[in-house]
Amino acid sequence: MGNKIAAIWLLIGLSACGTTNQQVVANLQSVDNPVLAKNVILMIGDGMGLGQITAGMYANGNHLNLERFPIVGLQKTYSYNNLITDSAASATAIACGVKTYNAAIGVNKDTVPVQSILEEAEIKGLKTGLIATSTIVHATPAAFISHQPMRSMYEFIAQDLLDSGIDLFIGGGYKFFNEQRHDEKSLIPKLERKGFTVSSLTHEELEDVNLANTKKLAYFTSNDSPIPEATGRDYLPKASIIAANFLNSHKKQGFFLMIEGSQIDWGGHANDTKYITSEVIDFDKAIGKMLDFAKKDKETLVIITADHETGGFAINPKSRMDSIQGAFTSSYHTGTMVPVFAYGPGSELFSGIYENTDIYHKMRKALGFDRAPVVSQ
Ligand SMILES: [Zn+2]
Repeated sequence: MGNKIAAIWLLIGLSACGTTNQQVVANLQSVDNPVLAKNVILMIGDGMGLGQITAGMYANGNHLNLERFPIVGLQKTYSYNNLITDSAASATAIACGVKTYNAAIGVNKDTVPVQSILEEAEIKGLKTGLIATSTIVHATPAAFISHQPMRSMYEFIAQDLLDSGIDLFIGGGYKFFNEQRHDEKSLIPKLERKGFTVSSLTHEELEDVNLANTKKLAYFTSNDSPIPEATGRDYLPKASIIAANFLNSHKKQGFFLMIEGSQIDWGGHANDTKYITSEVIDFDKAIGKMLDFAKKDKETLVIITADHETGGFAINPKSRMDSIQGAFTSSYHTGTMVPVFAYGPGSELFSGIYENTDIYHKMRKALGFDRAPVVSQ
């Protein structure tokens, strides 16, 4: 009741200032009934805690594109069986909305497959895509498209990717798809039969792809894991633009795209400050491109988060902006909350403190997937 009275006074006050009642009502109702997003771009910085973001920002001249986001929240990363999550359990939480055991890919605590938001998007007619700077069968992208009891089952995850309805994927791990597989059976001819244009160039820079006659795109950026940004990898921002434009080419349908900055985590595991900052800055360049796309498009929700923090990374005394003295409490992940940034329709859902599984529910709500279908009389 108190809220209603406050709302009425707000209406009166703002009407007097020239703001329309309709606008105020829309704002007041926005969290319960958000303006729907047509497209969602979810970007996960693996192992990107607040320390990593801060170090990347200072190392980049005290600036990141992340500062352009109006909505900031925090998410709790623990998994079903461990306060310290691994990437598989946290990616499954974000992709499928369930807390599961560490190492699980798209399955619940009882190893039962759970539909991901990407798979639901496919069913609802949206275009879908995955990009990573690890192999494309690594835990984070895998949880959106695969259902396996253990994250290390890379060749099974590759088969799941083949059997899915995904429209685009870009990342490393060609060896899990070609005749280097243990069964020596290449999946590439099958990918091509499904309508994929397959590029297996192992160049670290993404070559231009002629998308005009491309129905689906599979781009392998390396045979195994891609190299770090600091040693020449330079495809993430470009791949993000290619993917957003490609998936948006059927404008009526909308799309769901997940982009992972995979190697921020590897810098944390290596306790290597420069590895962390160079990977954060590279990921942030891709963030800037996607934010520019969303600002122009006006129907795209962009969400940036991490799956967990890695390294217990801190910026120690004697640091300067151009010389971060990083310190670490661990060579593994930690249990600290990680930030969430959001822009676009539905972004207001992402402020506050919540579980990692809530990101799944908030994305569904923003896309209108939680609404019952309208039955015409
Ligand atoms: Zn991770």
